[in-house]
Amino acid sequence: MINHFCKHPLWECNDRLVRVAQGLEPADLVIRHARLVDVCTHEVLDDTDIAVASGRVAYVGMNGHTADHCIGENTKVVDATGLFASPGFMDGHIHVESAMVGVSEYARAVVPHGTTGIFTDPHEVANVCGLEGVKVMFDDAKRTPLKAMVTIPSCVPAATGVEDTGSKIDAADIRETMGWDNVVALGEMMNFPGILGGEAGVQDEVRETLKADRCVTGHYAVPEQESWPQRLYRRGNQHCHESFTVDDVLAKLRLGMYVLLRQGSAWQNLPVYLPPSSRLASTCATASSAPMTTIPTRSSPRDTWIACCGRPSPLASTL
Ligand SMILES: [Zn+2]
Repeated sequence: MINHFCKHPLWECNDRLVRVAQGLEPADLVIRHARLVDVCTHEVLDDTDIAVASGRVAYVGMNGHTADHCIGENTKVVDATGLFASPGFMDGHIHVESAMVGVSEYARAVVPHGTTGIFTDPHEVANVCGLEGVKVMFDDAKRTPLKAMVTIPSCVPAATGVEDTGSKIDAADIRETMGWDNVVALGEMMNFPGILGGEAGVQDEVRETLKADRCVTGHYAVPEQESWPQRLYRRGNQHCHESFTVDDVLAKLRLGMYVLLRQGSAWQNLPVYLPPSSRLASTCATASSAPMTTIPTRSSPRDTWIACCGRPSPLASTL
């Protein structure tokens, strides 16, 4: 379990969820009379009860059905009359330390605006403090109600032979960290020449990630749409941080890659490059390289989307 807001693995708690749904075991929490925002059907379902057990939804009472049968002596009951219940926002990519704060302070800024999860790449901390610094960031995150899913920095140092920060992360470190609970991917692989050239250390990092069944995130803008994304994709990149044109985005999406559209202090890609019909693009509301300035004003992905597009996202499941 990553922190106390995270759910248990389904295999571990499925039996209990079945018992709770049947009223054979009490839920941990029952939320009553909420207006449920269903992001799959794009409906708002009035007067809905939600029973939660082991951090997961065990039962949803709607259309006149309640979750009263899930309430026991120790069940916390919340009356949500007049309130909405909805999934939290997930920030697809963030370098928390770029905002000159730790994860707990960052959480104080974004959680009240609805961001409940982040995919964070602490490559700046790693460049200075290595894996020890990454662990400090993770420990800080565990104290917060923010689910921090980590992509392990792939390019430490960012430019070999140029930087003198002293830290280094190699394939053996990647192998170790892929076993950590909160690690979900290899962080943005900025060394695209190393990927395309088959450089040993770089390929070893990718291999260790794929061996652990984790995602490899890439970083390359594509000047030649026909061939370069295919070369990157074949080298294990399943996701890309850098896209500067609509054609760039589409070329990657057509190969089944995920694409980040950045909207933050350093890049404002979203209003220009969003493919109107795409349902595959994940989005990014990053404060990258912005000391504090963007956090208070653009704290939620929803606010960012509306500011760019003038309307809420049609991709309700994403934003
Ligand atoms: Zn990044």
